[in-house]
Amino acid sequence: MKRKKVVAGNWKMNMNLEESKKLISELMQINVENVDVKIAPSFTNLFHSNIMLDSSSIEVISQDMHHEQKGAFTGEISAEMLLGIGIKTSIIGHSERRKYFGETDLILSKKVNSAIENKMKIVFCIGEELMDRNNNNHFDIIESQLRNGIFHIESSQFKNIIIAYEPVWAIGTGMTANSDQIQEMHQFIRDLVNSKFGNEISQNIKILYGGSVKPSNAKEIFSLKDIDGGLIGGASLNFSDFNSIVEAANE
Ligand code: PEP
Repeated sequence: MKRKKVVAGNWKMNMNLEESKKLISELMQINVENVDVKIAPSFTNLFHSNIMLDSSSIEVISQDMHHEQKGAFTGEISAEMLLGIGIKTSIIGHSERRKYFGETDLILSKKVNSAIENKMKIVFCIGEELMDRNNNNHFDIIESQLRNGIFHIESSQFKNIIIAYEPVWAIGTGMTANSDQIQEMHQFIRDLVNSKFGNEISQNIKILYGGSVKPSNAKEIFSLKDIDGGLIGGASLNFSDFNSIVEAANE
């Protein structure tokens, strides 16, 4: 099964307006056939980023969204608001949301439901802590994050989901999981999707790897059987690095 690769840049809380305009004008040079490229700027940069990339194939996506449609939720942004400015995909469940903002599996499943109800697509992040891996609990953690976060949705909706496996110990640390660890976990995730939703859906689901992907390791990671691209943090803030990673996925 040939799945088109995806490379998504997560800018996190970086880039002011001017900086983001500069990076986007560089990103406009990206011209690849075999990769879906996405960027997730901060909320304040979504609107103009989307306008600037209007005629480009790069999709602008959100880093997060709230599960309620509207109301007294100070500081939050809903699916309806994102759709209103043309944003049709959101990252949900990034480990930094889980860790620093107390987002539990229950909250994340509500966000997933809201995204699905609003016909938005989702990049759903999962990943174990180093302690989980050292205690040999990593498969259990990943399975429970999947079961609690997205396995309740109808199979017909699964086409709206991209899974991003991001071992927490590899995010922003420079430490990348090795090829065996990555392939083994991606295969495990695909097998779980198969046992829950069947072969066709499991063969179509895209599973990205995230965690210190850089130009020097992207090619090897993207060549692994069950890896369908990457979610890129730090290296997405620099055009030359991000472009090299996109090119590695395009091969
Ligand atoms: C991320 O934040 O999703 C990520 C993978 O970050 P980094 O590439 O910096 O490790």
